[in-house]
Amino acid sequence: THFGFKDVPVDQKEKLVGNVFSSVASNYDVMNDVMSMGVHRLWKDHFIRRLDPGLRPGADPKKPLEFLDVAGGTGDIAFGLMNHAAVKHNDHSVRMTVADINPDMLAEGHKRYLANFQQQIDPSRIQFMEANGQRMEDVADNSKDLYTIAFGIRNFTDIQAGLNTAYRVLKPGGVFACLEFSQVDNAFIDKFYQMYSFSLLPLMGQLIANDRESYQYLVESIRKFPKQEEFKSMIEKAGFYVPPDRGYENLTFGVAAIHIGVKL
Ligand code: SAM
Repeated sequence: THFGFKDVPVDQKEKLVGNVFSSVASNYDVMNDVMSMGVHRLWKDHFIRRLDPGLRPGADPKKPLEFLDVAGGTGDIAFGLMNHAAVKHNDHSVRMTVADINPDMLAEGHKRYLANFQQQIDPSRIQFMEANGQRMEDVADNSKDLYTIAFGIRNFTDIQAGLNTAYRVLKPGGVFACLEFSQVDNAFIDKFYQMYSFSLLPLMGQLIANDRESYQYLVESIRKFPKQEEFKSMIEKAGFYVPPDRGYENLTFGVAAIHIGVKL
């Protein structure tokens, strides 16, 4: 059974997305590894290094940086950012909110916190929040220094609303950073990529995770996501400043891309 996501009414999409991620929460790393052939780990590392988060010398240590990782799921990005700040900048004060619409993903993230990060990260510095990234009523205006979202925004029913919310919650000077599957920029490579994603991926999803539908959905959501230039325009439309010449960075021929925006 194949479900075409574009035919699903908007109010049901959120529920469907919820089901997709509930059914993969514990299998989640496997799915990411299958989807990207393991490369997502490198992309995430690059994303974190490029943002290079952490207080700089001379900054007031009593004013910790406030980070928000939306669609944070199992916490890869959140833990990675906090770890980078500590190791590279000796900043052990960053405060992090991991927001996700799906309580199962958050529970998995919290489990990983307890298992791997309890020693380094005081519980007062990290918060797991169940929230829809499109609205996030519980996050105050102008309250965050960094907003990250990795492989999450393409699941939003209303992407522009998500971007507008990112703009609302960031402080002036705050940075929006998105890592997401994108459009391959090389026709030759795209041919193989399309073959891989449309036939091989769902099959692998079935064989490895016994879950063909979830993988099928993910392939479709990638195909329907706006191309780099269009997504950049949406970020600008939300109010962000995007450097005209290098508003995004393609990773692996555009299989994924990083978009950055600054709230001036
Ligand atoms: N950022 C994590 C990572 O890179 O490993 C998780 C990415 S996972 C592919 C996508 C996440 O987006 C899921 O945890 C899902 O629950 C969440 N999500 C989907 N729609 C959302 C929404 N409207 N608001 C917040 N989170 C959402």
